Amino acid sequence: MAAEKTHIAVIGAGIGGLTLAASLLRLGISVEVYEQAPQFAPIGAGIQLTANAMKALRGLGLIESLRSIGFVPAAFHSREWDTAKITNVLIMGEALEQRYGAPDLMIHSARLHSVLAALIPPHRIHFSRKLVAIEQYESTATLAFANGSRVEALLAVGADGIHSMVREALFGAEQPRFTGRVAYRTTYPTALLNGLAVDERAKWWGPDRHVVHCFTTANEDEIYFIAVTPEQNFVVESWSTKGDKDTLLAAFAGCHPQLRAILAAPPELRKWALLERDPMPSWGTSSVVLLGDACHPMMPYRARVRPPRSRTRWSSRGALRASPATKSPTRLRSTLRTAKSAPPECSSLIARIPGCASGPIRTGSTTSMPAYGARWP
Ligand SMILES: Cc1cc2nc3c(=O)[nH]c(=O)nc-3n(C[C@H](O)[C@H](O)[C@H](O)COP(=O)(O)OP(=O)(O)OC[C@H]3O[C@@H](n4cnc5c(N)ncnc54)[C@H](O)[C@@H]3O)c2cc1C
Repeated sequence: MAAEKTHIAVIGAGIGGLTLAASLLRLGISVEVYEQAPQFAPIGAGIQLTANAMKALRGLGLIESLRSIGFVPAAFHSREWDTAKITNVLIMGEALEQRYGAPDLMIHSARLHSVLAALIPPHRIHFSRKLVAIEQYESTATLAFANGSRVEALLAVGADGIHSMVREALFGAEQPRFTGRVAYRTTYPTALLNGLAVDERAKWWGPDRHVVHCFTTANEDEIYFIAVTPEQNFVVESWSTKGDKDTLLAAFAGCHPQLRAILAAPPELRKWALLERDPMPSWGTSSVVLLGDACHPMMPYRARVRPPRSRTRWSSRGALRASPATKSPTRLRSTLRTAKSAPPECSSLIARIPGCASGPIRTGSTTSMPAYGARWP
């Protein structure tokens, strides 16, 4: 079968691949997206889009549409997991938006995915194309798919997620380390709380475990939580693995009744092992680059405020959106490869894409909370 030819080939139609494809199309660059799944399915759970991620999405004209379907919390309460005592209140909402120039927004990842997919003409997303091999040359890459088709691209982008085939082809198999911790995540109708009053966004701090919850819709009719807890012998990283509610509730046996009610309400849960990986020395070669979880998966609680110097470097080096020169494949290759100099603290997927402004503001511990958060007595 003769190889199809394309300018940029993106492998994987997750949030990363779609965001890149939409950005390239906006620049007038031809791009084709190859996805192994036969169609899109609404998987995932709540996702926090920090102000920096939202600034990137502003470049795609999405701020107001996301605001209308997502949730912008006015405050983030920290509570002790057993007494419910408030230890900190971080003011968010308009105050955060004024300070950082964009809102911090919670949304179901499937809705974000749908909004991104709508930016891409359907004929540019090729389903049932599972990449099985990749040949790299100095200025082209040839992709082979499980259905026997082949594609020759000037640049291939591996946006194929945490178990990236492209990464393995480029750099060999990796050996992640299990942290001994797992994350339970779910999103469910707020009505299942039977009128229980809950914070619009809160983190419950236990000694070695925690829960974050937040609404994910503008009318607060859907709530999301992520519960991170120690658990041995579970090493599956998958968007679809189910979690057992009794095991989760046993892990939080000592928690406050309000938190217990939040954890007990959902009809089902997903479970994700938290694995650590060493930073990669490089995220690409001359004709293939990696993006998103394929090269830079992060712990869900690893987000921190990045120093301004790093932010400046990231914005100016990766100015995909701003630079017409990126229309040249050579320049685009080099622009995408500068991603390897992005600082490791950058946890938000969107912020990992060159040209997508700076990193997250999301806080990972009480000590890292910005100074504008009011201390509760
Ligand atoms: C517990 C948890 C909480 C998180 N919370 C947040 C948060 O609050 N905020 C945030 O910004 N991020 C968060 N993240 C991270 C975020 O969800 C990921 O970084 C993001 O979804 C990764 O997107 P991606 O496009 O790189 O990969 P994926 O979403 O995994 O997409 C990869 C795509 O590639 C396809 N694919 C795979 N292999 C092939 C192949 N061989 N051929 C063709 N297609 C292929 C897959 O089917 C998939 O569609 C969290 C992650 C976890 C686990």
